[in-house]
Amino acid sequence: MPEDCLFCRIVNKEVESHFLYEDDTYVVFKDIKPAAPVHLLLVPKFHIRSINDLLPDHESLVGGLFPLAAKMAQEHGVDKSGYKLLFNVERGGGQMIFHLHLHLIGGWQR
Ligand code: 5GP
Ligand code: ZN
Repeated sequence: MPEDCLFCRIVNKEVESHFLYEDDTYVVFKDIKPAAPVHLLLVPKFHIRSINDLLPDHESLVGGLFPLAAKMAQEHGVDKSGYKLLFNVERGGGQMIFHLHLHLIGGWQR
């Protein structure tokens, strides 16, 4: 684990954070600067820098984010209204925290 990785520190509870969901593999918490009424970050506990760094062994880890997203969307009442799922990849793609995570963004009035 890179010691300077904020999300590793959050995962390891070295930084105070409220988890909306936690299991052995993932944590989910609210984005500190929400871009929408619902803005969750779905974070594998295992440190992977970005989508660029995926290895074949990581497939199930990343694949598991999608059913978790659907579950979190339902729990936060945006499954029917709809939501976006987003991976920012590297600086040009808007990534600021270099620990792979999936944004779940929704809850706009439409
Ligand atoms: P990225 O731009 O890397 O895809 O997304 C990182 C996200 O993490 C940003 O939307 C940012 O607002 C959020 N963030 C940065 N620092 C913290 C923090 O300390 N706590 C939480 N909950 N979110 C954070
Ligand atoms: Zn990390």
